[in-house]
Amino acid sequence: MIVLKGAEVSAKIKEEVRAALDFMSGSIPKLAILRVGENPDDISYERGAKKKLTDFGLAVQSHVWPADVTDEQFRQEFDAINRDPETDGILLLRPLPRHIRERDIERMIDPAKDLDGISPLNMAKVFSGDPSGFAPCTAEAVIEILKTNGIPIAGRRVTVVGRSLVVGRPLAMLMLAEHATVTICHTKTADLKAACKNAEILAAAAGSAGMITGDMISPGAIVIDVGINVNADGKLCGDAAFDTLEGIASMATPVPGGVGAVTTAVLAKHLVKAAAARRGIRLPDRA
Ligand code: NDP
Repeated sequence: MIVLKGAEVSAKIKEEVRAALDFMSGSIPKLAILRVGENPDDISYERGAKKKLTDFGLAVQSHVWPADVTDEQFRQEFDAINRDPETDGILLLRPLPRHIRERDIERMIDPAKDLDGISPLNMAKVFSGDPSGFAPCTAEAVIEILKTNGIPIAGRRVTVVGRSLVVGRPLAMLMLAEHATVTICHTKTADLKAACKNAEILAAAAGSAGMITGDMISPGAIVIDVGINVNADGKLCGDAAFDTLEGIASMATPVPGGVGAVTTAVLAKHLVKAAAARRGIRLPDRA
């Protein structure tokens, strides 16, 4: 089984970002990361994104609010960042505390700065197959992994486990845009095993540790594991029981070191795309 490492895909994206930055002659794109509260997962993601983007030569500024910030105060300060001419892109760490109306923020965010595709406009573009907007970074990371490794998608049977708006659904739409034949599974799917066995490419985005096992996939299948879970030993693990795939899957992504590493690289790529568009710079293809 070939292990599809996220670092190799991230390195390729880094080259693309560096080439784009050369083209933008010294103008450094700036990302604003918005965090409310001290959720350890958010803090860890923020740290990883900052490290990656800085390494790629991009600027990052964190904005942090206490968990009890009022809806009104958050909205006002969000609005100021949204309008700030120095800010090229926004990453909002979610979910927000329940008293903040996340739906309103999704509607407020400038689609041109919405790097993780949460605005209705960017969502609609993903669902209508229009590549001009921003797809959610994780969903796009899966496509990047397949393409960078030369894995064909067109015409293949793809099963996506998970139907959230953050990962499963947009990923299914991106797969469809690449001309895959897509099956989407969720908790009410009657025969999950059959749907998984049918897949040539299986993308697991359920958030359930080790739920995909070797006996659920067909020989030669490619498994892309989006899940990030903590197992009984307190270790990070994916939705697939990785060891059980050996000898059955042809390729699989590890957790950690798979999709997660590519997600932040896609965020960097989106930031450069947003910054170039805001500056009226047309980047050459693959720059
Ligand atoms: P959600 O909890 O929002 O959605 C999970 C989806 O999986 C739901 O649609 C749910 O079905 C489905 N599901 C859950 N359990 C099962 C099951 N046993 N059988 C079939 N379907 C199931 O999670 P997210 O979409 O936000 O995230 C999914 C995973 O991806 C998580 O582990 C998360 O940590 C990870 N993630 C990883 C990222 C990365 O960069 N690698 C980024 C974002 C998320 P139903 O709709 O019926 O409830």
